[in-house]
Amino acid sequence: MLTPRLEDYIQQGKDFQILLSQIQDKTVSQSYLFTGNRGLGKRTFARLAGKALLCTGDGKRPCGTCPSCVMAESRNHPDLIIIEQGKPIAADVKKDRATIPVDDIREMIRLCSVQTTDGNLRIVLIYDADKMTVQAQNCLLKTLEEPPEQTCIILVTEHMEAILSTIISRCRIIRFKPWKEEFILQILAKEGTPAEQAHDIARVCNGSIGKALDLAGNNEYWELRDEVVKAFFRNTKYSEILKYSNQWKDRKGEAEQIFQILEFHVREMLDIRLQGRNDQGIEQFPAHWQRFIREGDIRKMLALLDAIADARKQIKFSTNFQAVAEKLLFLFTGEGNAWL
Ligand SMILES: [Zn+2]
Repeated sequence: MLTPRLEDYIQQGKDFQILLSQIQDKTVSQSYLFTGNRGLGKRTFARLAGKALLCTGDGKRPCGTCPSCVMAESRNHPDLIIIEQGKPIAADVKKDRATIPVDDIREMIRLCSVQTTDGNLRIVLIYDADKMTVQAQNCLLKTLEEPPEQTCIILVTEHMEAILSTIISRCRIIRFKPWKEEFILQILAKEGTPAEQAHDIARVCNGSIGKALDLAGNNEYWELRDEVVKAFFRNTKYSEILKYSNQWKDRKGEAEQIFQILEFHVREMLDIRLQGRNDQGIEQFPAHWQRFIREGDIRKMLALLDAIADARKQIKFSTNFQAVAEKLLFLFTGEGNAWL
């Protein structure tokens, strides 16, 4: 699966620009905290930064071919310590633990006390840092207060609020932002995602590469999406509505996904209309809906969004997804048919 390259992160802004040159010069700080939503490439960046800092090749790092890069890639580099929930480094910690226990941090400290190869830097990556127990965090804090020489510790977390403020204040904070649509499209194109799908994905993934790649590889999602488009936008016959709602009778578990797909389409309508967008986004709708998008009352588009929100509430109290879906189908079909 394709992930960003180290240099791609320059698009994440000034902090990254500085950090990237520090990584090349191996003049990084002793501790960092990488934070931001899921799927923005925090781990990928931490891994690439660690690899680059250990790389012994000449020129741009990581070179990918020196012995150090090869060892780092296979997680066998003696100077690269990776701590992650469920993958303990301490010998007597059970594998499936939901937290990172203090034993892992103690083991990390022990490993850090050993001389590195050739006086290299030592890199410690702590993924899911919020999963550290309070005891583990307190133990780490002591290390951050008196950091071992030549060591760079990188904490990675989506949930900074779960990290002790005393730890946060000792780290340089690097915030990951949503990626631009163009960049997501580039990644998806390299992955071989069809352009039409890629366009939709780029708009629903909120700048998350992780989510974009998940969606691109998720055939069930695309099948469900086709089903929703067919029922809500392509069908013009009231007599067919029961057939569609009947298909979803026992699929309450998929309700939220169906709502999301529907919501995406209505938001697209609004966006095309309000931004005066003239891209391929409108082509996913049949001709009568295209007329609605260009000429329809915007309040009616907002009413469709409200109806989806209502349906979401109803489903919490009712087990009958069929009835909820039917009401929505009647509303959408009626709205679209006015533009036939
Ligand atoms: Zn290398």
